[in-house]
Amino acid sequence: MKHILLLASLVTLSLVSFAQSTTSSSTSLLTPEQFLGYKIGSRFTPHHRVLAYAEQVARQLPGRVKLIPYGTTYEGRQLMVIAVASEANLSRLEEIRTNNLKRIGLMEGTPTSTAQPPIAWLSYNVHGNEAVSSEAFMEVLHRLLNSTDAISQKIMNTTVVILDPGLNPDGHDRYVNWYNQMLGRNPNPTPNAREHNEPWPGGRYTHYLFDPNRDWAWQTQEITQQRMALYQQWMPQLHGDFHEMGVESPYYFAPSAKPYHEDITPYQRQFQQLIGQYCSRYFDRNGWLYYTRERFDLFYPSYGDTYPTYNGAIGMTYEQGGSGRAGLAILKADGDTLTLRQRIDHHYTASIATLESVADRPAEIVKEFGQFFDKSRNTPIGPYKSYLIKSNGDAGRLKALQQLLERNKISFGVAGKAQTVATGFNYTAQKTDKNVSIAADDIVISAYQPKSTLLKILFEQNSALEDSATYDITAWSLPYAFGLQTYGLTARIDPKPLSATSAPVNTVPAAYAYLIRWQSVPAVQTLAALLNQKIRVRAAEKPFELEGKTYASGTLIVARTGNERLGDRLGTVVAQAAAQAGAEVIPVQTGFVTSGSDFGSDFVSGLKAPRVGLVLGDGTPPPSAGEVWHFFDQELNYPVTLLDGSTLGTVEWNKLDVLILPTNYNYGRILNERTLTALKEWIRAGGKLIAMERAAAFLAGKEGFDLKEKSEKEDGKKEKKGNPVDSLKIYINRERAAISDDIPGSIYRVNVDTSHPLGFGLTGGYYTLVQNAFNFDFLKDGWNVGYLKGDNYVAGFSGRNAKEKLKNTLLMGVQEMGRGSIVYLADDPLFRGFWYNGKLLFSNAVFMVGN
Ligand SMILES: [Zn+2]
Repeated sequence: MKHILLLASLVTLSLVSFAQSTTSSSTSLLTPEQFLGYKIGSRFTPHHRVLAYAEQVARQLPGRVKLIPYGTTYEGRQLMVIAVASEANLSRLEEIRTNNLKRIGLMEGTPTSTAQPPIAWLSYNVHGNEAVSSEAFMEVLHRLLNSTDAISQKIMNTTVVILDPGLNPDGHDRYVNWYNQMLGRNPNPTPNAREHNEPWPGGRYTHYLFDPNRDWAWQTQEITQQRMALYQQWMPQLHGDFHEMGVESPYYFAPSAKPYHEDITPYQRQFQQLIGQYCSRYFDRNGWLYYTRERFDLFYPSYGDTYPTYNGAIGMTYEQGGSGRAGLAILKADGDTLTLRQRIDHHYTASIATLESVADRPAEIVKEFGQFFDKSRNTPIGPYKSYLIKSNGDAGRLKALQQLLERNKISFGVAGKAQTVATGFNYTAQKTDKNVSIAADDIVISAYQPKSTLLKILFEQNSALEDSATYDITAWSLPYAFGLQTYGLTARIDPKPLSATSAPVNTVPAAYAYLIRWQSVPAVQTLAALLNQKIRVRAAEKPFELEGKTYASGTLIVARTGNERLGDRLGTVVAQAAAQAGAEVIPVQTGFVTSGSDFGSDFVSGLKAPRVGLVLGDGTPPPSAGEVWHFFDQELNYPVTLLDGSTLGTVEWNKLDVLILPTNYNYGRILNERTLTALKEWIRAGGKLIAMERAAAFLAGKEGFDLKEKSEKEDGKKEKKGNPVDSLKIYINRERAAISDDIPGSIYRVNVDTSHPLGFGLTGGYYTLVQNAFNFDFLKDGWNVGYLKGDNYVAGFSGRNAKEKLKNTLLMGVQEMGRGSIVYLADDPLFRGFWYNGKLLFSNAVFMVGN
């Protein structure tokens, strides 16, 4: 312990002397300390003060520093990157940017000059409570502008540096404001002290409690959308993403752990090693502990290291021990005290070492980057040279997928003419079809384009996994997420430009009723808008045919009956709501159907505007609740009342129609006997409970709830075969052995009863992202709406035991209780806001079930 302390003080000394030399040599540029009035590391700096320092530096050195604001957060905070370069490079910054895009084919034209510096982009503080890196940013910025420091000079002479001081300012300030309130005159290093125990939800997440470092490809959050729009305009050659992890862990830098995605290039792999060499050189010199090649892998495409990698860059994660727990100082298990100053030193040093690795080989990096895109455009990877998405699917799904492609700068178009290709991999049937016919307006995505690697990875049916102990979900294939009929084609088809898509033109002649097909989110948004305006909406429980068209179960019917108060305005109101959502309205002149039930039938139910409550707070993984909140608030614009779990005992039940329970580890306390009894009374009186994931598991087996987990006995009749010696555990393999129960996120095809309201609109087949190997038995009296038969596995890693458990198991069920109902969802259909197909399923649970 003593020698560690001694080492720590030596390190501090060497850094102090280094910092002093920096200060004295850059004559007039204010240091962060001079500007802020306190030593960096002595307190946490709020986001606006971090930006204020950057603004001060830009005022002092306008020829070297350019501020590039790129948006605002949900809570109104400024988003900004800072470009730092030599005067020569900064004066032609726009030319450097456009030359880069032209070189890789993301902009028309040829580069105007061959002298192209690499662009290195460092992202700080994506997780808001990992607040150390925004402090490090200020020192990195100051150091880069030190005109007498040889390393800074080398970096500035060769490289354009882009620094993002805070990707998630709402989360950052949530943490910093809280921490500053907890702090006394001196920091208290005792781990139990209040200042080390951040309250729910913590600063890690976005305003809507999403994890912003799972969102790079999906771009569901406003901060991600704004940042990625800027990223696509720059397309850096290197991207470093700065994080923190548990207090006890030493520093982590590249090379990453396995699994590496198979499409990471040899050069990118080699550079992972190089970063390790550059960082370790400084860490060794200072005697700092670190590790590489463990825990942080390169697989899931929506991280700050993999996303840039699949976009041709060198992408890395850096992790410092600390995060929201460490505060200004915390005592570790080994007796040493970890201070904010030490944490800053590590991120600062890794930042400079990384930039140095670029500065030592600028031409090579630019050349390799260019070649990555040459290959993408001319000899793309993967078995498919084009992807075909049938246009006969739902327009809402198609549009949502197109938006995702556009945000990632993946180009697409239409086939242009009807044709047939010999073979194509049918994602839905999971087999190769012969003679695939293509309609003129089908969507075609060619693999011969700059973003080919990203395209291949987002569409691959199953990603090759070299090692299954990954940190995240292992399957994300977009055709399944969107539920669109898709083919992978070995033939190259060059798409024709898409004609400007006009929003559905909703003509609104006076009609007997207006119909909206229940197929995807635009229909739900229309319903939400109509219910918000107190319009009476009905839903057809059975398919019907009318005026020569067929309509599936769930079709919305807005009739004049019940909406008399609107008179002739009804059509306009419906059309406006639908147009805003992008849904089509079909006016009909009669309710007398050719087949099915007439609009006045009992099989056409009136939909009430439910008063919805969502339980969150302590014990809930914040994203589990945040996804629901975000869906109601941002996507549907429909009111939801957020209820803290601790207040559920005093809730006014008669003010709620629907109660949503996401996963929460405290249900044992929240739903005590008294509250559970009140909850059941409320359901019997007509309430609807939606129990998701661990909430469903919590209720399983409780009195009155029909859901049961299969007993192990019933489940495992498997006999151990072979020599028992073969199955003895090997200690070094313990991590591997543990994952046989794991299912970190895999795709399964669900058998759905689409005649049940919970299955409405899911006629094209439903794929779910399974993350829980719950083993729910079929409901004896209730409705088994979604379930897995023998083997519905499609893609991703499923541990041996987990796979076994997922045979003949219930995923989505409805139990009727008195006049109310309970919807059980074993998986989270709103997971990370990107599983598009799940949004309709979830909406069914809220609006359709139990009417
Ligand atoms: Zn992090």
